[in-house]
Order: sequence, then structure tokens, then C-alpha cells
Amino acid sequence: PPGAHVPALVIGTGYGGSVAALRLAQAGIDVHMIEMGMAWDTPGPDGKIFANTTKPDRRSYWLRTKTKQPLSNFLGFPIDKAIPRYTGILDAEEMGGIIVYQGRGVGGGSLVNGGMAVTPRRENFPAVLPSVNTDEMYNVYYPRANSALGVSTIDPAWFETAECYQYARVGRKHAQRSGFPFVFVPDVYDWDYMKQEAAGTVPKSALEGEILYGNNYGKKSLQKTYIAQARATGRVAISPLHKVTSVRPAATGGYTVVIDEINTNGDTVTTKSVTADRVFFAAGSVGTSKLLTKLKATGALPGLNSEVGKGWGDNGNVMCGRANHLWDPTGKLQSSIPCSGIDNWAAGGAFAEVAPLPTGIETFASFYLSITKNPHRAQFTWNAATGTADLNWQTAWKQPSIDMAKTIFDKINAKEGTIYRTDLFGAYKIWGDHLTYHPLGGAVLNKATDNYGRLHGHPGLYVIDGALIPGNTSVNPFVTITALAERNIERIIAADL
Ligand code: FAD
Repeated sequence: PPGAHVPALVIGTGYGGSVAALRLAQAGIDVHMIEMGMAWDTPGPDGKIFANTTKPDRRSYWLRTKTKQPLSNFLGFPIDKAIPRYTGILDAEEMGGIIVYQGRGVGGGSLVNGGMAVTPRRENFPAVLPSVNTDEMYNVYYPRANSALGVSTIDPAWFETAECYQYARVGRKHAQRSGFPFVFVPDVYDWDYMKQEAAGTVPKSALEGEILYGNNYGKKSLQKTYIAQARATGRVAISPLHKVTSVRPAATGGYTVVIDEINTNGDTVTTKSVTADRVFFAAGSVGTSKLLTKLKATGALPGLNSEVGKGWGDNGNVMCGRANHLWDPTGKLQSSIPCSGIDNWAAGGAFAEVAPLPTGIETFASFYLSITKNPHRAQFTWNAATGTADLNWQTAWKQPSIDMAKTIFDKINAKEGTIYRTDLFGAYKIWGDHLTYHPLGGAVLNKATDNYGRLHGHPGLYVIDGALIPGNTSVNPFVTITALAERNIERIIAADL
């Protein structure tokens, strides 16, 4: 209720926010989570909560009237289509030089992502988070995160025979014939459920191409793990369709948090304010960075330091497809959950996931999302004229990522006598270099905050999401975001509360 007082307020319900809420509640502290997206707990007219990837509708996009699919074209034809404006699940946020895809709703990115749950190779960790003790992370916090998220790896015997992973077996063959290490990638998908999907005994999710706009069944999103546990404590309340717009010191101590309640058209219905003893910024790398940049520039939080908004990166994401020979079909049935990758990080700075193209038809295409060691970092700055926090990422900054991905795919193409697809991202365009799924940084650990996420200048304010990580994790990021949140909240509860 307006004017209420809460001990702990969490902005956002993604990985960082869910870890904070659960651990605070278990420590006996009442938590209120504020989420700008919807609850995603009610079926639509088709009886399902989430829309299918091949049939986007109003549920699919955040406040757009036309879809903005990551793969914009097929066989040269644009595939985006008109949809009604709605507070849908996937935000394709255009930041000038880059489109940043993000999940919107209770569960954040866990609602839309592929569930690939990857712990970085230990030798790569010191470069990811230099101020964090590697032993502690690998002995305590990564295991804690993996266990709470429900991470596991595909049954290797089933992998060899499953029709839906023919595309991954072709990916393996091509990787190994060129001498690259091929690795299984763990996931939070329920692999036993997927086997039952393949056997035709349960409703299909991964085998019906569900991804990007939510999975109706087998994926263990945060709604089924951390958030379910947090709710079960009885100490956690969640307000969906509520967006935090301001945080400032309250005269009585603590912080005044200003919140817009919105409708499904994105319009503000009412504006509320509450007082919170402690506020946890968990709005995602972009959400947290934009808020903090604004609050510093407008004087609401004058004590924030000049590191706020800095150190933002795209985890080096770049996509591409290869056209296979007719004797290497990748299968018309493709599981939407990737299970494998090509690790050329040490030699070429690229880790490439063998990704699905779940179109329902044989495409003879191999498709990859590469994570690369791109060195570029962008900064958010406040634009008083437009009232927005702008990001200075440049499209040309993807070139190092393309060069690193080419260390894998130029070699495979040469070996196999194949070529790149040029029809997936626009006419004659090989590289999907206009986007990222993995925004990271903007309120970097041990720079904008202390070594545990406490924001400098304002006691009781914390950052606990992907904004803490300086731009790259060497693999898919959510396990690292979760494990770092586990580490930080343990210290905060022990020392500050
Ligand atoms: P988020 O999960 O982004 O959560 C932030 C939440 O805060 C959101 O729900 C948002 O709506 C809410 N919010 C923002 N601003 C406000 C505000 N002002 N007020 C209230 N609420 C607000 N990562 C992997 O590791 N493996 C994968 O397979 C993978 N696949 C991906 C596929 C796609 C299509 C996408 C988009 C991402 C993928 N990711 C993947 C990335 C992963 O989902 C993110 O790194 C992760 O969700 C970030 O966690 P977070 O806690 O920082 O924030």
C-alpha cells in the first residue's frame, strides 16, 4: 500500500533479485519485490501461458506493435509481423548501436532464455571478476547456485539417438573434424521431461520449438525454483506491473521508493511511494544501470560515484549460420534447448553454442551463438534533453567478436567445403552483430560498489544483478550472476542486518 514501510525492497525478479529475496526471507526479513513485467501465471485464450516461437502474438513482445525477431529474415524474406501492443514477455530494447534482448515478468530473463547454465572454466574466472576469491566461488557459491537452479546435463546415451538433437550431432561432427573441443552444456531444462516429450506422452515444450517467448512445461525458470522457495517462506510479496522510477534518501531514514503501477498498454495507472530500510537493485544490467545513472545525474542519489554507468559489455555475443551439404541434414525436429558447444576460448577467444533453428522444416543449416572475448566496454550517460539514460555502444565494436567467431567457422567451412548463410539477418548479411542476449555491467563490483555490491555513498543500497559483472563471463552468464548474488547476500545478511 502507498506510504507503507518495508524492511527490504527488491527492484526486479530475475536471478539477482530472486536470490536476494529468498536468502533475506530465510533470515527472517520481510521482502517486497517490484516487477515491471507481468506475473505470467494465467493461461491465455489458447489454454497456454506462453506463446509459441513460430506464432508470436501480443504476449511475445514488450510494448511493440511489430515483432523484432533476433533472426529477422529467412531465405531472404523478412519474417517480422504486426502484433497488438501489450506488456509481453520479451523486450527488444534498442539502445542506438545495439538491440538488447531482455525478459520482462516475474522471473526476469529466466522466462525467455535457453536455460543454458554454464559455470566458467576455473582458469578463466580471475579475468571475469578479479576482486572475487576463486576458491570460494568454486567451492561454495557455484555449487550452491547450480543446486538451487536445478542444473543438469543431457544423458549422453540419449543424445546419440534423439531425433531432436541431430543438429547438435552434426555440429559435433563438424567441430571435431576441424580439431575443436566439443562440450556438453548443462541446462535447467528437465531432461526426463524432454525424453517424455520425444516419446509423445506429455505436452510438448522444447520439442514444439518453445523459447524466447516462454516455455510452458519442461524449463525450470525462477518461478519454479528460487521464487517458489521464496514465496514458501511466507515473507515475500511480489507486485507485477509495477515499475520503480526513483529512489532517494527519506527524511526519516531509509529510502523513499517511487513506483508507477502500469496497465498492459504500458500506461501509468497510479504512482505510489513506499519507504524501505534497504533497497536491492536487481533490474538487470540495463535496468539497474539506467536507474542509477538517472538517480545520480538528477541529484536523487548524489553520493553515487563516477563508476556508475561504466563497464558495460555485450558478453561478446554474435550469431551466424552455415549452409550444410545435402548429406548433412540438421533435422526438421529440433529441440529448442541447446545442449552443446564448441570451446575455442583459449586459442581464439570464442565459445560457440550449437543452437537450434526450430522452424519445423529441414533447413540444412547449422546455427551458432558465439560468446567472444570482445574488449569493448560502453557507458550509460544521462541525456537531460530526452530524459533517458543513453548507451554509447557502437555497431562497429562487434568486429572483434566476428573475428574471434571466424577462428572457428572459417576453419570449419574450409574443412567441410561449406559457406555461411547470408539470409538470416537481412539480405546478404552473414553476422548477427546487431544484438545481445547477455547485457552485463554498468555498476561494476568493487568500482561502483564495494566488493559485495554495497553502493558507495548510500548505506543500505545494494546492486545484486548482472550490472555487477564487467561486461563478460566467457560463457552464458546466469549461473555466474546467481553465484555472485549468493556470495554477496550471505555477507550482507551476516554483516549489515
Ligand atoms: P534479469 O533476469 O534481466 O531481471 C531483471 C528484472 O527486473 C526483469 O524482470 C525486469 O522486467 C525487471 N525490471 C527492470 N527494470 C525495472 C524497474 N525499473 N522496476 C521494476 N522492475 C524492473 N543466459 C544464460 O546463462 N543462459 C542462456 O541460455 C541464456 N539465454 C538467453 C536467451 C535470451 C533470449 C535472453 C534475452 C537472455 C538469455 N540469457 C541466457 C541471459 C540471462 O537471461 C540474463 O543474463 C539474466 O536473466 C540476467 O539476470 P539479472 O538478475 O541480472 O536480471
